[in-house]
Amino acid sequence: MYRNKFTGCLLGSAIGDALGMQTEGMKPAEIKIKFNVVFDYGRGRPGSNNETLRPGQYTDDTEQTIILARSIIAMGKFDPEDFSQRLLEHYLIIMRLPELNRGWGTTSLTACRHLADGTGWKESGEDSPTCGSAMRASPIGLLYPGRPDKTEETARMSSLPTHKNPESIAGAVAVAAAVSMAVTNTDPDVIIKTTSDLARKYSIKMADKIQSIDKVRHIPEINAFSILGTSIMAIDVVPCALYCFTKNPLDFPKTLITAINAGGDTDSIACIAGAISGAYLGVDAIPKKWLDRLENRDEIESIALELWGNS
Ligand SMILES: [Mg+2]
Repeated sequence: MYRNKFTGCLLGSAIGDALGMQTEGMKPAEIKIKFNVVFDYGRGRPGSNNETLRPGQYTDDTEQTIILARSIIAMGKFDPEDFSQRLLEHYLIIMRLPELNRGWGTTSLTACRHLADGTGWKESGEDSPTCGSAMRASPIGLLYPGRPDKTEETARMSSLPTHKNPESIAGAVAVAAAVSMAVTNTDPDVIIKTTSDLARKYSIKMADKIQSIDKVRHIPEINAFSILGTSIMAIDVVPCALYCFTKNPLDFPKTLITAINAGGDTDSIACIAGAISGAYLGVDAIPKKWLDRLENRDEIESIALELWGNS
């Protein structure tokens, strides 16, 4: 059961990241002038973090999601020690070969430096409310299909090695819970309510903003995004991703096109929206043209299948 949901989730997440990387950091008006509407893969923007990336390539969001998923497969469960070690190994590679750095954020890099200095995973995280631990949290949701309450403690632990701010933790908890419920076709309104309830323990601001999605769902998208905010902060990225999903719950392409034209942190917004939508609709809802041209598609699919096999 759920095989197509597991592959839909991880492939959907990577596709969202790869689609969103071309508009990362742009304002909606700039996107409109340059592209009118972005609806397919494109090259990274010159002068951005992603300038060397070709159409279909993904960024740090997918790299960290893969690191987390591989750690779960190797250990048979989530093990924060092993996960931190794998983050550190990747960090050491990009310190040696900076051209391989696909936009790892300052928070993650600083935290990994602490790991390299010998700080333990409970203390290595930065107190910075960015979205780095939310963008990679989808595999935690796959560990507990239909049991969002079970994801909470694991998602919290998965945030700590890099992000110990309560808003970041709330974001990781919300994403893992949303994926867990999407796998079992939970009603999108229930997904919103439950993620908000679980996030509230860590951040009232996050919980209230997730709940406010209900109010902005029926106004023009550009206004909704300006109310929600599209910065790299977890408090913006996670509600925006949930908004994109609940606005188009039966339409994977529309969910991602909404996300990548939002402006701001479009790769992370689309990465999370793609994970939730892919888990909800399954891999068959993802256009073939996006699957076929996604970097490392086979590898991501086989990681999803190994997670599925272990579930
Ligand atoms: Mg990124």
